[in-house]
Amino acid sequence: MHFEFLLDAILGERQIFHIIECPVCGLEEIYYENAKTHRLIGRACSNCNFVQKFDF
Ligand SMILES: [Zn+2]
Repeated sequence: MHFEFLLDAILGERQIFHIIECPVCGLEEIYYENAKTHRLIGRACSNCNFVQKFDF
């Protein structure tokens, strides 16, 4: 799973916060939160090969 490695590299340890319909492809876009602090850390769509890290 190449995309999972990409998520590990960019987002690190994470858990799923919620899943919405990807505005680009219509499949699953997943929002991730930090497992300990529960702060949102990023979102990703594996179909679009898209990863965004949120910087606060
Ligand atoms: Zn997508």
